Amino acid sequence: MITVREIARLRAELANHRRAGRSIGLVPTMGALHDGHVSLIHRALEQTDVVVVSLFVNPAQFNDADDLSSYPRDQTRDAELVARLGVAYLFAPPVAEIYPPGYSTTVRVHGVSEGLEGAQRGIGHFDGVATVVTKLFNIVAPDRAYFGRKDAQQVAVIQRLVRDLDIPVAVEACPTVRDPDGLALSSRNRRLGPAGRARATALSRALASVARAAADGCDRTAALAAGRSELERAGIEAEYLEVVDPATMLPSELDGDERLAVVAAHVGPVRLIDNLPVRRFSPDPHNQVATPIGAPTDR
Ligand code: AMP
Repeated sequence: MITVREIARLRAELANHRRAGRSIGLVPTMGALHDGHVSLIHRALEQTDVVVVSLFVNPAQFNDADDLSSYPRDQTRDAELVARLGVAYLFAPPVAEIYPPGYSTTVRVHGVSEGLEGAQRGIGHFDGVATVVTKLFNIVAPDRAYFGRKDAQQVAVIQRLVRDLDIPVAVEACPTVRDPDGLALSSRNRRLGPAGRARATALSRALASVARAAADGCDRTAALAAGRSELERAGIEAEYLEVVDPATMLPSELDGDERLAVVAAHVGPVRLIDNLPVRRFSPDPHNQVATPIGAPTDR
């Protein structure tokens, strides 16, 4: 595996592979890698010939200087891990390589960026994400790029971005990897103490309660109340707990279609997010089970 810090060098390396007809997969990360990232890398290794993992703690997407400075960093371990997995390139540029002096351009995806994380962290958060991902797409020109459903709104923003700007890349949304007790893996989990780690499991339990209530036929209000009481039992006050349409990320009623229950909350000093698909059970009297052709009927 080769660690590359300059855009020009990475472009030159990848041009050789492209000329040889090899497909390129990109897994963008902010490092402090865990099994969630590893699942994305495995997927990329299965589907593409040359995998680039980018490691860049993007200052533009942090609204809080303390959050940026305390974000976990462990580049030596990350480099060893991706090398063992069979990744060809680790792209780990310094900040000035991505945002050189005079840098002036921002990519904004309206609408889908504005609620939930955009409302809590400020619209600048997804401006930062959309800008750096656009730059990575331009630098790497991947055939496929891999993102985690754990950051569901980020996936929706990037899918919109790729469609709107006609970027020729296939965006793969990969399933959320969880610890056995349900906690979604996150680089930020490292900063939870043992007590916080135990309390943090309430987020996935709350989402599971919303999903169960929906499957039992509850409406949105009742399903969210079930989720909120799970958080209250752990002494957690959510920044948001919502049911949204996964394409628009706007609050939505529950019906027979798939929705997403989404949550964000602080557990001590650590801000966590999670989500789970939910669907309301709605018996439809007009949609009876069809009798197979040729089967005996009562009539
Ligand atoms: P990050 O380093 O947190 O920016 O994450 C890099 C990529 O890994 C993003 O596409 C995330 O959605 C994805 N990711 C983070 N946590 C998980 C997880 N628990 N399961 C699957 N993907 C994840």
